[in-house]
Amino acid sequence: MIRRKTQREIEMIFRAGQIVAKVLRHLQDIITPGISTLDLDQEAESLIRKLGGKPSFKGYNGFPKSICVSINEEVIHGIPKRSVKIREGDIVSIDVGVEYNGYHADSAVTVAVGRISPEAEKLLKVGREALDIGISYAKPGNHLSDISHAIESYVLANNMSVVKSFVGHGIGRKLHEEPQIPNFGPPGQGPILEPGFALAIEPMVNLGTEEVLILEDGWTVITKDRKLSCHFEHTIIVQDGEPLITTRLKD
Ligand code: MG
Ligand code: MG
Repeated sequence: MIRRKTQREIEMIFRAGQIVAKVLRHLQDIITPGISTLDLDQEAESLIRKLGGKPSFKGYNGFPKSICVSINEEVIHGIPKRSVKIREGDIVSIDVGVEYNGYHADSAVTVAVGRISPEAEKLLKVGREALDIGISYAKPGNHLSDISHAIESYVLANNMSVVKSFVGHGIGRKLHEEPQIPNFGPPGQGPILEPGFALAIEPMVNLGTEEVLILEDGWTVITKDRKLSCHFEHTIIVQDGEPLITTRLKD
């Protein structure tokens, strides 16, 4: 049973989402070769707190830091470290979750650091567009899996793969709520979307195989073939007309 959020809850998720968006924008402004992933984490945590939020990920199932930073063949859940420095030519996935007044929002973006290869450029384009296409199916009356199918079809048409072992999710009072939102599968299945559903849609797109491994730290997910991966995520609210993208900066 997926609960429709009230107007007040939607407002709280939106405010959490705007904090997430500001943090992601700030991290994109400061990311540069030589900065450590721990520097990014500390910048993020202090800005989240300054804006009145709490980092959703810190302590979540024991996750030790405030954000996830995943570089190149790392897909998701990279743990920020002092010893890991960003290099020219990297693609860096940054995932930020914020709790504000008891409600969460969650968003991720993969950014290019300096000049990257043409195939990396194409990967980022496909990942970004796969998210946009998925979001465009988040409308009342559609089935949940219409989102999943649209994402997978677009990625496969571009000769890339979607990760299947990790999925998007409902969001609200908890970071992860019902329903799970796979980035693959046939259309026309699962619950019918209703206004007030809050969904974190998050395709993870790989240049090579869809298969992934988890490193010995118990968190970092990497591609099995060590080819590049990207991750794009927004927290959206289903409503009449276009969905409300809470994690897109409204200025
Ligand atoms: Mg996320
Ligand atoms: Mg998420």
